[in-house]
Amino acid sequence: MNPGQDPGIRGKLVVVSGPSGVGKSTVVREVLVRVPQAWLSVSATTRPPRSGEVDGTDYFFVSAAEFDRLIAEGELLEWAQFAGNRYGTPRAPVEQRRAMGTPVVLEIEVAGARQVRQAAPDALLVFLAPPSWEVLRERLLGRGTESPEAVARRLAAAEGELAAQDEFDHVVINAEISKTVDALVGFVL
Ligand code: 5GP
Repeated sequence: MNPGQDPGIRGKLVVVSGPSGVGKSTVVREVLVRVPQAWLSVSATTRPPRSGEVDGTDYFFVSAAEFDRLIAEGELLEWAQFAGNRYGTPRAPVEQRRAMGTPVVLEIEVAGARQVRQAAPDALLVFLAPPSWEVLRERLLGRGTESPEAVARRLAAAEGELAAQDEFDHVVINAEISKTVDALVGFVL
């Protein structure tokens, strides 16, 4: 049996949150390489796909009506409006994986992390913080995936998100990716 996986024990639920542009995806990708038995939840979103994004792998890209249905049927563990779009975590796959003893990772924004705290009090909440405001701004601009308006919306959201870090179980400053990954691997295992 793989370490970190035991059908007799409910799998851990680790929430990685923090402002857009802080490097959540990069770090989480590396964590999954190091802990292949962990499972990364695939969110539903009303945001249109970016070039290269694959439906069912990066996100489930859904219409506003379908997102309304997911909410109404109670199919989301949490959901939030972020920078003009909605994002949510399908509940059933998270529960199924945890019941099998598989560690589950969620990569979500702060309002969603708060809801997970309520819905699953045993979840471990990790906040990824940028080394500085300037670094965050540069990363968001340098990514080149968003329009200037979208970058501005994400920076505005980041202010509120940074203020919420005290609500988390752990705050990791993402200055050096390898060190951040080491810390997160320790939380997931
Ligand atoms: P992006 O549009 O850059 O893929 O994601 C925007 C923000 O939404 C990021 O902070 C990302 O972590 C967050 N996000 C992605 N999926 C979910 C989800 O299922 N729920 C919540 N609350 N946030 C999510």
